Amino acid sequence: MSQPPDDWEKLRQEILECQQCPLAKSRTQAVPGVGPNDAQLMFIGEAPGRQEDIQGEPFVGAAGQLLTKLLEQVGIKRQSVFISNVVKCRPPENRQPTHIERATCRPFLNRQIQYIQPRVIVLVGRVPTETILETTVRMGAMHGRVYHRNGRTFFVMYHPAAGLYNQTLVPTLEEDMQKLKSIANNDRVPSEEREQGQLPLSEFFSEEKK
Ligand code: SF4
Repeated sequence: MSQPPDDWEKLRQEILECQQCPLAKSRTQAVPGVGPNDAQLMFIGEAPGRQEDIQGEPFVGAAGQLLTKLLEQVGIKRQSVFISNVVKCRPPENRQPTHIERATCRPFLNRQIQYIQPRVIVLVGRVPTETILETTVRMGAMHGRVYHRNGRTFFVMYHPAAGLYNQTLVPTLEEDMQKLKSIANNDRVPSEEREQGQLPLSEFFSEEKK
């Protein structure tokens, strides 16, 4: 049975004040996420970077600017989507968040999803993909596809930072964004989608179901 809806502002405040993992000590501020809390599309990245830590908003650095451009190219306004991360605080030196940090922060993400009820959850890059779908499958095999888990629809794409480091990936990012637009419009679902049960369900979903 679903949990009763959170108070959105209270949830945001809890994130801003959270001290539950070591990242609280090194952050400038927690970055809960940005966008409407009834968005159809929810983007989940890895963690805030330096600019995000300073500005308090996810995806505002160079990779974020590329994400905004990719959205605009297919006619999706950045302001119409909700954007957050697996962990809400910046890891020192932009290292990957540890599994303990991801697990500690996960209830916040669960509660955001539960509140927003997005139509499609976009997993941006390897860390959110492996964290949420609990898979170690390579991004090259997973990007641009839809995954159904426990009544929710996920779409996997490369992190835009990959396109900054490797320009040859930009056309792939553009194609995947176009696919996402089609899925969001319900025009077409890629036939390669994987069925529920092919990969193990995670605590992420069982927590959400409690
Ligand atoms: S990363 Fe998440 S769990 Fe850790 S301090 Fe920040 S908000 Fe809390």
